[in-house]
Amino acid sequence: MNDGREPKCPLCFEERRAADPGPGRERVHVTDYWRVVAHKSGLPGWLLLLPHRHVGSLDELTAAEAAELGPLLAQATAAQKSGLGALRSYVLMFAEATRHVHFSIAPRMPDLPRERFGPGITAYNSADQPLTDAELDEIALCLSKAWSSKV
Ligand SMILES: [Zn+2]
Repeated sequence: MNDGREPKCPLCFEERRAADPGPGRERVHVTDYWRVVAHKSGLPGWLLLLPHRHVGSLDELTAAEAAELGPLLAQATAAQKSGLGALRSYVLMFAEATRHVHFSIAPRMPDLPRERFGPGITAYNSADQPLTDAELDEIALCLSKAWSSKV
């Protein structure tokens, strides 16, 4: 079976599992080629944007996948601004530990502590107590509503 996903990739596994309607945190926004999920971190509203199929590097995106990417990044920022009150969004993409392209889209909130500015935002990914699934579902619903009101 070749569905464009790698058997040992955790994000491909998540994509396969999410084919069934999952909880809100797993589908903030879904398009033909991408899915937006609420990232389990210590920062409310942190989103991940990932392609449905396994893509190891940005130059491997198809033209159709690449065409959706820019608008999705802009829409995610708009949803974080209108839904959460973010000033703007931080966008990160490494695909280092998990070689499946995925963008981190972190809301830059007005009250962000100075030590979390810029790259400091990644501390929410490791050091902090992550949000509960219930909290993630609640934020996902808020962002999903904000997203659909902008499209
Ligand atoms: Zn993958």
